[in-house]
Amino acid sequence: MFNKVLIANRGEIALRVLRACKELGIATVAVHSTADSEAMHVRLADESVCIGPPPARDSYLNIHEILAACEITGADAIHPGYGFLSENAKFAEILEAHDIVFIGPSAEHIRIMGDKIEAKNTARRLGIPVVPGSEGAVTDEDTARGIAEEIGYPVLIKAASGGGGRGMKVARSQADLGEALHTARSEAKAAFGDDAVYIEKYLGQPRHIEIQVMGDGKGGGVHLGDRDCSLQRRHQKILEEANSPALNGEERKRMGDICANAVRELGYAGAGTVEFLYENGEFYFIEMNTRLQVEHPVTEMITGIDLVNEQLRVASGGGLSFTQEDVTFSGHAIECRINAEHPETFVPSPGRISYYHPPGGLGVRVDSGVYQGYSIPPHYDSLIGKLIVHGRNRVECLMRLRRALDEYVVDGINTTLPLFRELVSNTDIQDGHYNIHWLEHYLAQKA
Ligand code: ADP
Repeated sequence: MFNKVLIANRGEIALRVLRACKELGIATVAVHSTADSEAMHVRLADESVCIGPPPARDSYLNIHEILAACEITGADAIHPGYGFLSENAKFAEILEAHDIVFIGPSAEHIRIMGDKIEAKNTARRLGIPVVPGSEGAVTDEDTARGIAEEIGYPVLIKAASGGGGRGMKVARSQADLGEALHTARSEAKAAFGDDAVYIEKYLGQPRHIEIQVMGDGKGGGVHLGDRDCSLQRRHQKILEEANSPALNGEERKRMGDICANAVRELGYAGAGTVEFLYENGEFYFIEMNTRLQVEHPVTEMITGIDLVNEQLRVASGGGLSFTQEDVTFSGHAIECRINAEHPETFVPSPGRISYYHPPGGLGVRVDSGVYQGYSIPPHYDSLIGKLIVHGRNRVECLMRLRRALDEYVVDGINTTLPLFRELVSNTDIQDGHYNIHWLEHYLAQKA
């Protein structure tokens, strides 16, 4: 096992990784921007290094500074968390050249899955069902029209290098296609520095269901069941649950086995998520994330397996501590992403937390880096914490979630807590009847 791990991230995920390291007796190094010197993970780490000014490109994305921090502190490995450098193949390669372990999959696997066109082709090859669409990048309108006619309108134009729900354009008919293609390409170029786009069938009412996988890097691999992340706003997940209320045991096992097989065939190392859209009983692969996900705790709650601990084991060459047969699902878990945003307008609300009281009790977990008196800096995304609740079944889980939401107090800033208090009492949510558009419709009706 490693002696010292540098955590190249901030906020709740930096703390999450730090906790797993501490339990394994691994020393921790926090790196932080000047805006984050008072952050909880910086306070709790064994050592900390300031790596630059607030803008992420000068600090959390500054590979040179992070490497220097690693050399100064003598860390043997880096955990990238999610976001920032977690899916940067070049970063993984640079670390390898410096004999520092990247806690994640190989640079090659990151690169394949980071290019959504290549990822889809790889998925196809591995027997994973994909959304019908173009097999490569589409540059001209004639080709686009041919493909759109073949798969049928509406179609979605997506950026090959896309992420975070950005760079997608719907064309409802041939009349929209030219403009959608043009806008998608220029937006992709501006956002990702790459104007490659591809076309796929736009699914009308799907759910977003994903499978958690882990590979030992030696040809072994398992799945840890599914998560339903259909409650989204602007393609960003808001609430996640495990298992999906939409799947039966047979579907769950079939898709889990397909994904675990793919992991074994790839020789994949560490944690990954295979994302699908699910409509009318069919699964359609959309992408694979080669890192820990924000919503990983719901899987941990129903399996009892610490995913970060397993990432550390695999990266240090120790393999997984469990086999597929050891994985059992117990009860139900739901996660709410608490953002520092106005609950109706979603305008970010940085600033000082004047009073803070997180909920507790049986089955309640709060993953957050904030505390009373802490000032949320305006420079980063607005996630300030995750409330994760476990119950023996979905009904108990929802009852407990409502209680925990009522107990949660964050004063001094706006948060999305009031939105979750509404959602938990909504009959569609209680019945599990929602798809990826449900929340947008709900919010539009309220406005
Ligand atoms: P990103 O990497 O930007 O998150 P994804 O491919 O994972 O992009 O898609 C994000 C979200 O966009 C999905 O969860 C879903 O809500 C929507 N989406 C993506 N592809 C399609 C599609 N073919 N049809 C309908 N919605 C889609």
